[in-house]
Amino acid sequence: MVFAGAAMQAQLRKYACSWCMRRYKQASSLGRHMRYECENAGKKKEQVCHVCGKRYFRPDTLTEHIQACHFQFLYNTTQASC
Ligand SMILES: [Zn+2]
Ligand SMILES: [Zn+2]
Repeated sequence: MVFAGAAMQAQLRKYACSWCMRRYKQASSLGRHMRYECENAGKKKEQVCHVCGKRYFRPDTLTEHIQACHFQFLYNTTQASC
């Protein structure tokens, strides 16, 4: 039965993304998804570095990244590197 199979799969995959409800068997897979893959998360929460496009969850982490990796950019020189 297709339905029974789907229900069993849902039980196996107990870690659900709180943004898009995609489910994973392992917490580490869910963590990777929420950090790097989930499109819904990007719309709601992620902070994206406007220099290199890296994504961060928190504004302060992003600010730290920009100061650490793109300090040239902050001082208006032409090179931006990470
Ligand atoms: Zn998701
Ligand atoms: Zn960056």
